[in-house]
Amino acid sequence: MDMQLPLLDRLFAAGLLIDTGVDGLYGRSGAFEDVITRFEAVIDSLGGVDKPEAIRFPPGMNRAHFEGSGYMKSFPQLAGTIHSFCGCELDHVSLLTCMEEGKDWTGQQQATDIVLTPAACYPLYPTIAKRGALPAGGGLFDLQSYCFRHEPSKEPTRMQLFRMREYVRMGKPTDVVAFRQDWMERGTKLMESVGLPVEIDVANDPFFGRAGKMYKNNQRNQNLKFELLIPVNANAGPTACMSFNYHQDHFGKTWGLTTEDGETAHTACVGFGLERIALALFKHHGLDVNEWPAHVRQTLWG
Ligand code: ATP
Ligand code: ZN
Ligand code: MG
Repeated sequence: MDMQLPLLDRLFAAGLLIDTGVDGLYGRSGAFEDVITRFEAVIDSLGGVDKPEAIRFPPGMNRAHFEGSGYMKSFPQLAGTIHSFCGCELDHVSLLTCMEEGKDWTGQQQATDIVLTPAACYPLYPTIAKRGALPAGGGLFDLQSYCFRHEPSKEPTRMQLFRMREYVRMGKPTDVVAFRQDWMERGTKLMESVGLPVEIDVANDPFFGRAGKMYKNNQRNQNLKFELLIPVNANAGPTACMSFNYHQDHFGKTWGLTTEDGETAHTACVGFGLERIALALFKHHGLDVNEWPAHVRQTLWG
């Protein structure tokens, strides 16, 4: 394999990712998927001992829940909405004419009740709030979802549709912060067990616009987000493969989520970027899993 080629081209050539003609939108081979499946099993073996409640949402979420979450205040540039044709027969004729003439036909599409999920945990908070107050000790959830972000890129680590595995903790501030701390340590050990070099640093999200500067400073000054970074791309800084987020009472207030004694619940989430982790493994150990170091193969395949 020509090591001079960009990583994305090497992944295409090896058949691990499949080009669709759109940057950041790829098919995955069976070998690529197997790495993700095996890595998730290792995550389960660490996180399963805490007996989280597993929930799987599809990659689209209730638009009203999305609107309530405040995502459009922070990241309007990343969001994706689902639009459908809602016209009559006459509208259909003009739609087809538009398409035949190569004109823009999408103006006829109308917003549906569904938007694309921007992060695996967004559908969870309103869902759990609807159940009523949290039980004693709070809540712990295990999530996985495809997520959409409109950030087309030639870097394979920045996709438009990718999977996030998350654990979410809800409850008293001390419990929630301890959960996040615990996963920073577990995450570091986990990556070391599959032969990946890591560093942890405070993170900055790309909050939109002038008002976003305030969010950015707040996030940094209050240590609300940490990232676990692994070098993947050549000529670029290391890539965030996990993130550790403390939302304070943001989602608790937004959705009326309370602890058993009626206090506003605090929340934190820990997210694994599954494609990024797979890419880090391919980058560090080679594109053929059969050639990976024995201890790494042992951890993943037993
Ligand atoms: P970055 O700073 O690289 O844009 P992020 O801070 O936006 O990452 P989070 O919002 O914390 O990422 O999402 C949780 C995890 O999902 C990240 O740690 C990363 O591993 C993964 N992730 C985020 N954006 C992408 C993407 N565009 N493609 C693939 N994985 C992603
Ligand atoms: Zn989350
Ligand atoms: Mg981002």
